[in-house]
Amino acid sequence: MDKGPEAPAAEAIRLEGLHKSFGELEVLSGIDLDVRRGEVVCVIGPSGSGKSTLLRCVNLLEEPTSGKVVVAGTEVTDPDVDIDRVRRRIGMVFQSFNLFPHLTALDNLTIAQRRVLGRDQAVAERTARHNLERVGLTDKESAYPSKLSGGQQQRVAIARALSMEPELMLFDEPTSALDPELVGDVLAVMRTLAREGMTMLVVTHEMSFAREVADRVVFMDEGVIVEEGAPAQVVGDPQQPRTREFLSRVL
Ligand code: ADP
Ligand code: MG
Repeated sequence: MDKGPEAPAAEAIRLEGLHKSFGELEVLSGIDLDVRRGEVVCVIGPSGSGKSTLLRCVNLLEEPTSGKVVVAGTEVTDPDVDIDRVRRRIGMVFQSFNLFPHLTALDNLTIAQRRVLGRDQAVAERTARHNLERVGLTDKESAYPSKLSGGQQQRVAIARALSMEPELMLFDEPTSALDPELVGDVLAVMRTLAREGMTMLVVTHEMSFAREVADRVVFMDEGVIVEEGAPAQVVGDPQQPRTREFLSRVL
């Protein structure tokens, strides 16, 4: 099915029968999930249900035990695939911002462009400034991470991912480490990205974000998808007892 790495595909992500175990512990027990291009899918579920592992299997930060992962038409679980090439097309934003503390915001955005994409400094800086503007941090390009709030650091991390011009973005609880008053600015950036058509797979506990922005919500528990559908259905009118029980605790 792969006609080369740039072959267009309807699905941005396809997971088929995905299993992941760590030793004896089975963390993902057969996940089937498609994310279409331009779609925003939010994954919700209790701590330890396998949400992070699921995201990490998409870009092979974790190697699935069995099953298939297809990203933009490339089967990444194929042993012959050039995984670095696939990873370049996927932006990932973590709960912890993982910025380089010894580099300014601008340099945090240029370094991977130069090293991974081989861009020259001028092009990398132009792209970096454009993306700092997108996240509302034009005035912070010379600031070091320690001088930025958590929300600003996370927006730099998003701008850094965007500077690599990814085809899709994975977010793993991007606002969980932030003080409550800083969450809104980060969610606003993500909302804008969604509106611009970015394909996004987002693990989040922000139910209002999931309700307003997601095209689809997936509820996971104990390594399986228990329920999925439109946000109004899964968050607003859950059918499964486990979903109801979870929502009653977080809403
Ligand atoms: P969630 O993100 O939903 O909280 P995780 O995917 O982080 O869940 O973890 C699911 C389960 O897998 C947990 O029991 C966790 O301890 C375990 N786990 C995650 N990563 C590893 C690892 N590298 N080695 C061993 N166990 C792990
Ligand atoms: Mg997690």
